Amino acid sequence: MRVTLSVIKADVGSVGGHTMPSAAMVGRAKQLVADAVKKGLLLDGMVTYTGDDIALIMSHQHGTAAAPVHNFAWDVFLQATAIARSEGNYGAGQDLLVDAPSGNVRGAGPAVAEISFELLPKHRPAEAFMVFAADKCAPGAYNLPLYLSFCDPMHNGGLLLSPVLHKGFTVTVIDMDHRGKEDRVIKLNIPEQVWDLAALIRDEDRFAIEAIHSRVHPDEQIVSVAATRLHNVAGKYTGKDDPVALVRVQSLFPAPEELVEPWATIHQIVTGDCRGSHNMPIMPTAINQAVTGPYCLPIVSSLGFSLNKEGKFSSNYVDFFGGEAFDYVRHKVQEKAVDFRRQGFFGVAMASKTELAYTGLTDTLTALDKKFEMRRDDAAVSKESRKASKDAKDPD
Ligand code: MG
Ligand code: MG
Repeated sequence: MRVTLSVIKADVGSVGGHTMPSAAMVGRAKQLVADAVKKGLLLDGMVTYTGDDIALIMSHQHGTAAAPVHNFAWDVFLQATAIARSEGNYGAGQDLLVDAPSGNVRGAGPAVAEISFELLPKHRPAEAFMVFAADKCAPGAYNLPLYLSFCDPMHNGGLLLSPVLHKGFTVTVIDMDHRGKEDRVIKLNIPEQVWDLAALIRDEDRFAIEAIHSRVHPDEQIVSVAATRLHNVAGKYTGKDDPVALVRVQSLFPAPEELVEPWATIHQIVTGDCRGSHNMPIMPTAINQAVTGPYCLPIVSSLGFSLNKEGKFSSNYVDFFGGEAFDYVRHKVQEKAVDFRRQGFFGVAMASKTELAYTGLTDTLTALDKKFEMRRDDAAVSKESRKASKDAKDPD
């Protein structure tokens, strides 16, 4: 049967600042998801949080961008918002940027990652998948880790060892700055166009890996990333995008250990953090953790699931970043974060000019711009007069 995995995530309010949703908000979301499974809307579903974002992880048979599922997710976030308001929580309803979505919440505020596939075909006898959820950063945060796992044998030896992985992938990149009714996307074949891919996705504020497909089985989508920028929806800074990524693993696709490797070794610096306006290393964290680091340290969680022939999740999940190996990583990231923060707002410690365009800094710079005065530059004037007298002596 054909199954769709949908991960839909939003920040609809949190306790004491941008930290974590309240227990009552998460409890309500869990109850609604359990009801939706009972009623048959979903095959299975669960609720987690990463920092201040609630994630709904769902399996169903309605396909991608399906109104029943997206409307359900919107309703869950509305009900969690109502609880956030009643509790006085910070940023209640923050990511719900439109009054009512038209059956698709993509572009309405929540982050959406979805993949549809035939469940358990001959070439893929077991279905396993991972869910990454990041807080305090933008969709480009997944560019480097995905590039290293899918394009670089130094980080994923499976690209040399597996005959299927060795055939490569088709990577879809989206231009997140493009506005209008159509998306602007490019498909690149790996390994032939690996440096073209690198040239684009190094600019992670603008270009994001949105999808990755197998080249041996082109109908099989391996990766889906929520690649929309909230400031393009709202026209101003309303909170960071906090992207989710869905990755199918094993049986023809990379293994979980090949996907978590870059998060352990790179200690990647991303744009985000406090007011979404700084550059900071992203810290892999256990699931259901509050953000409490210096400023608002970007964090990412990573869960693993198996799916049975009825589309139901295994009885428990694996928390890839929850273990001891990542305690070491967290120390390294924390050291790097403190070093970076010592530089405050100067130079590369703060986000790029393009990102800051959506913040109050622009108003200050515009106001100051009008107060600049013109002052005589004696050196330039004497250089000009020397040139004039030389021209008079040596006419053409
Ligand atoms: Mg927030
Ligand atoms: Mg958030």
